[in-house]
Amino acid sequence: MEPTTISHPSPNPERITLGNTDIQISPLGIGAWAWGDRFYWDYGKDYHRSDIQAAIETSLAAGINFFDTAESYGGGESERIIGEFLVKKNQPVVIATKFFPYPWRIRQASLISALKKSLQRLSLEAVDLYQVHWPFPPRSIETWASALADAVEMGLARAVGVSNYNLNQLRRAHAVLAKRNVLLASNQVEYHLLNRKIEKNGLLDACHEMGISLIAYSPLGQGLLTGKYTPENPLKGVRGRRYGSGLIAKIQPLIRLMTEIGREHEGKTPAQVALNWVIQKGAIPIPGAKNSRQAAENAGALGWALTAEEVARLDEASDQVGKS
Ligand code: NAP
Repeated sequence: MEPTTISHPSPNPERITLGNTDIQISPLGIGAWAWGDRFYWDYGKDYHRSDIQAAIETSLAAGINFFDTAESYGGGESERIIGEFLVKKNQPVVIATKFFPYPWRIRQASLISALKKSLQRLSLEAVDLYQVHWPFPPRSIETWASALADAVEMGLARAVGVSNYNLNQLRRAHAVLAKRNVLLASNQVEYHLLNRKIEKNGLLDACHEMGISLIAYSPLGQGLLTGKYTPENPLKGVRGRRYGSGLIAKIQPLIRLMTEIGREHEGKTPAQVALNWVIQKGAIPIPGAKNSRQAAENAGALGWALTAEEVARLDEASDQVGKS
């Protein structure tokens, strides 16, 4: 099957357009979950605030202008770091954050209260993209979609999106927003060579048809697709327990193919191949980076392209992981 590609028309070749908005972003962003998160990512042990500052500076120098965070990341610390190192320094960036529909948030107005707190931490008056993090009950998809429209009408968000929504949920949110004349800009979901559900269940194609940007989270498979984790060097901590050593053994043929294909492109690394693959599928990867080295490597996924034939070979190898 031919890989699906999509162009995001933009006057600047280094930029693509976010959904049907006028917001211009780099074709690859940076995810800020690990910035301040001690529990899952070990912030404070193997990387610190200065490493994050360096990662931000490296990303900016490489032309990356799209940063994704959430109120829940590091208990608000991720937003504070972005406020300190990007917003207060007047960097021309596009910032996305997220509202978490905790079960005790039962009033529609709680989204606006949460957004105002995020804006304080970010030192912003309005955020570029405000997303509902998960479609969790007790309140309906429609309630939070309507609250997103309130955020736009109040001038607190330039654009709005959702995250972890399936096709049905996406259509419901889109319909509520359309009635309020607000466009749904994006859906942020897990997408990478080890998780291609959205290719198979129609969500990716539907986003393309509806002009909604598909933001791909965990595009490096939380580090697995960088090739640095092997049966001899397994993942530790929470991620180690989540993925187990069996998966790391199973993905080694895929990593070997990524290395081989990367060599054909002047020595691109498996991480860069993994991110470029996402871009060729018409999605926007937002890899996390804990330091300048990782940020530089990830930015090196831009400025070149895997061929359709290489994408097809990677698809085939990723299917084999599922079967083995
Ligand atoms: P990811 O981007 O697939 O992996 C990030 C991790 O991989 C890094 O923290 C780092 O961890 C390692 N890494 C990154 N670049 C590397 C490189 N060049 N070489 C070697 N190792 C490298 O996973 P993610 O952080 O889960 O996802 C990215 C972003 O997506 C998040 O920051 C967040 O903004 C977003 N996200 C959203 C949701 C949602 O529900 N909406 C869920 C998850 C993530 P180690 O060095 O420790 O291996």
